[in-house]
Formats: sequence, structure tokens, C-alpha cells
Amino acid sequence: MNTFEKGVQAYKSEKTDLKVQKEIESLKEILKDKLLILGHHYQRDDVIRFADFTGDSLILSQKAASADKPHIVFCGVYFMAECADILTRDDQRVYLPERLAGCAMADMAVLEDVKMIWEHLISNTGEKIIPVTYINSSAEIKAFVGEHDGIICTSSNASRIFDWAMERGNKILFLPDQYLGMNTAIDKGIAVSRLWTLDQLPNKTQVADTTVFLWNGYCSVHKYFSVDDIQRLRAQYQDIKIIVHGECTADVVQRSDYFGSTSTIIKIVSEAPKGSVWAIGTEQHLVHRLQERFPGKTILPLSLFGFQCSTMSMITPKSLLKVLQDIHAGRTDLQISVEKTIKRYANIALTRMLAV
Ligand code: SF4
Repeated sequence: MNTFEKGVQAYKSEKTDLKVQKEIESLKEILKDKLLILGHHYQRDDVIRFADFTGDSLILSQKAASADKPHIVFCGVYFMAECADILTRDDQRVYLPERLAGCAMADMAVLEDVKMIWEHLISNTGEKIIPVTYINSSAEIKAFVGEHDGIICTSSNASRIFDWAMERGNKILFLPDQYLGMNTAIDKGIAVSRLWTLDQLPNKTQVADTTVFLWNGYCSVHKYFSVDDIQRLRAQYQDIKIIVHGECTADVVQRSDYFGSTSTIIKIVSEAPKGSVWAIGTEQHLVHRLQERFPGKTILPLSLFGFQCSTMSMITPKSLLKVLQDIHAGRTDLQISVEKTIKRYANIALTRMLAV
């Protein structure tokens, strides 16, 4: 059995303990008037099945913003629960079933470093720089962006957010995912020579010659899809279409047929004709779910290794049950609460995005 087959077997063994499943269902029923469960596409099947709404970061942010239930459980990662807390009323509570479920990419932009680079950039140009952060960032980074006339984007709306930023400024500082920033900029016709990845500080001339400054973060799942994966599959299947997430490297995106958010991937694959052949470059739980949903299409993971997001997978039926038991008992140990000032500025940036 190769590594991929082992991964699939492990994946298929994610079976819910029946007792746990029954307890979750019964608590959902008891709490139904005051509980909303949101689930990101990368969650395990045995968790996402309990979600009232599933979606990508943009859809789930919108759901959180319009929710009227007092308790919101976010089956996703830490920054998503923070976003939900920022967008909900003070009398609503947001919970993450596993506090350690973070996002490696979000952790790559630390506020102190961002402030230092920002000072360097603005002291080297008289032009207006608009900070844009991908939603996969900490609440502090979102607040920084909100405070500096900036905005948040998701992989669904990055292109429109670039337009918004370029209507208000001459340059963009894009945080923290260099690849989503790079792929969006290239797609919008910005020359590669006008992109600067901030693993080095640009001098005054380089600042003048740059349109988009890219933080040097990346997704520890999507970075590992490769051009070799694409070439291998194109050699094997003549009519294959390749679709990848916008967090993949620019090399991979350039050689794919489509790129976009998880919602875009789902939409394109759903609308494809029966019998079509697809390779998908995104987190394995979503790929597997699409394989099950469309048995009449050939759907393959782009990589033989079937990459999973380890932190998304930290949320299990047991941890979901625990948070429901807590809510029922009035405990708030798993509540995610963003500090007031941070919340205020982060809310400005998020609200700008939702308006776009
Ligand atoms: S898939 Fe990548 S960007 Fe998404 S939560 Fe996991 S590490 Fe973060």
C-alpha cells in the first residue's frame, strides 16, 4: 500500500463513535434555539456532518455576521473563530472545539514584524500603500490593517479586493500569504517584476519599483503541490482538467486550468459534465468529499500524498461533543474572545470586506 492509499484508509477510518454521535444529536436538539454550528470545508466528515452551514471563510464570515443565535460553535481554526467573534454582537458567544487548532500561515505574520516592515515601507515612499490581509491572519493583524485604511480578503474575493485597494492607493502590502497575493496580482496583469517578496527589505528604489509587497508566509498544505504532480497527471490522462487553490505556488497555478477558493473548486467541479476527469490541488478532506459526491466523474487528488491540514483535523466528534456539553452546562472554557480595541479595528477591516 502506498502513502496515498494509507492516507485514504486512515481518512476512511474517521468513523464517529455511535455513542458520541447520538449525544451530539441529542444536545443539538436540546440547544437548537440557541446554537449555530459552522463548519469549514476542510473539516473531517465525521465533524462537518453536524454543521448547520458549511462553506469557505467568506461564506462562514457572512453567516457569523448575520447569525442571531447566542452560541456559535466554529468547526474550523482559531482565526475563523476570532473572525466570528469580531463580527457578532457582544451578547453572542463563539466557541472553538479545540483551542490548539491554529493555522500555520496565520502564525507567520507577527504584529511586531509587520509594524517594522510597514514603517520601513512608508518611510521610503510618498505613495499611498494599502495594507490587505488574507482572512487567514490573527485578529491583531486584522486590526492593524483596519487602523491603516486597509482591508481583509478571502480567496473568493481577493481579485475584487485588489481593485478596491488600487482605487485608494498606489501600492499594496499583502499579508500573510505570498502565493495568494502573487497569484492574484499576476491574474490582474501586474508584472512579476513589480512584486516584492518580503524575505528581504527593499531599498528606496526597489520600493518605488514595486506595486505589491508580499509577506513571506505560506500554507503548509498548499505549498507542497508541485509542477511534477501536474505533469504526471497530464501524461496519464489526456483530457484531465487541473484545478487548484489560490494558496498554491505561482508555478502550479500557472500550469493549472483553474484556480480559486474552495467554493470555486466545488462550483466548477459540480458543474462539469459526467465522465470528465479532474485533479484537485487542495486539502484532502474536501477532495475526498467531492469524490463521494460525484461518482460519475473521475476526481483525483493532485498529489499522491493527499495532504491534510493537521490543525483542521484536530477537531473531532469528541471535542465537538465537549463544547456542546460546556454550552449546555454554562461553561465558557472554549470561548474565543477578542480584546475590545483589537475587535473594533479588526471589525472595520472585515466590514469593509463584506461591503465589497
Ligand atoms: S489549510 Fe493551510 S491556510 Fe488553511 S488552515 Fe490549514 S494551514 Fe492554514
